[in-house]
Amino acid sequence: MILGALEAGGTKMVCAVGDETGRIHEQVSVPTQTPDTTMPELIKFFENKGIEALGVASFGPVELDKKAPNYGCITTTPKLAWRNFDIVGGFKKALGCPVGFDTDVNGSVLGEVTFGQAKGKSCVLYLTIGTGVGAGIYIDGKLLHGMLHPEAGHVLITKRGDDSYAGKCPYHKNCLEGLAAGPAIEERWGAKALMLADRKEVWDLEADYIAQALTGYILTLSPEMIILGGGVMHQEQLFPLIRSKVTELLGGYVQTEEVADMDHYIVPASLHDDQGIMGCLELARRAKDE
Ligand code: ADP
Ligand code: ZN
Repeated sequence: MILGALEAGGTKMVCAVGDETGRIHEQVSVPTQTPDTTMPELIKFFENKGIEALGVASFGPVELDKKAPNYGCITTTPKLAWRNFDIVGGFKKALGCPVGFDTDVNGSVLGEVTFGQAKGKSCVLYLTIGTGVGAGIYIDGKLLHGMLHPEAGHVLITKRGDDSYAGKCPYHKNCLEGLAAGPAIEERWGAKALMLADRKEVWDLEADYIAQALTGYILTLSPEMIILGGGVMHQEQLFPLIRSKVTELLGGYVQTEEVADMDHYIVPASLHDDQGIMGCLELARRAKDE
């Protein structure tokens, strides 16, 4: 089955043609400009490729409720040109095939549970820590939407006493994204995150904040695996720090095989940064079957 996949990001759009096994036959990336400029480029890539369905995992917020009049739209995004843009409708009209749609992070968790290390698991959390922080949640075999969709990057965090940084989120003084996303690290310490690699105090604080959020997610959602992706998680020294801080914060209260084996519980993404685009192939397959 030939399927189309689009990972719609705030800075770039990754487009691929592949199949239901997760194999990618062809992939390109175009910069995200305005819908007027970018949509025709995307349509040009997908048309005449014989795709039977398209899966789109998008930056948000997005409307995922199929009963809503604006289902398939990007809604209150700060990227003004895309605000209220009907991305699903645009592709359905131009390509005439079913279009599956979800958040970018739900795409990534779907890639990992369909094709990656989380295959066979029914409750998995995928957290990306990059320009922003976002969580994709697969729960009892379904992508979690709920009232809107999870916005778990904005959970509130208790600031450490020695951290005088004000936080970067315009909505919250002390949310995870505002304190721990790449831009916050860079503003707090005054250097590119990559250049801070050997500053132990940077990653110790970062791990503290990430561990607080993960502890809350563990206690609320009871995930069987937590996958951490995004640019910031390229700092691999974060993993052991986060694992030991989560163990400490849980305080021995949650006694499961998973939590007892932290090295296999809190893990990096497994699909060489293709988890998002592969998840889009699965979104397309599901849209075809609906
Ligand atoms: P996006 O979130 O825009 O999709 P990324 O996940 O690559 O993109 O995140 C970009 C952010 O991640 C940048 O703000 C930068 O601070 C941070 N980052 C990128 N690479 C690294 C790295 N190797 N080490 C630490 N931080 C990084
Ligand atoms: Zn926030």
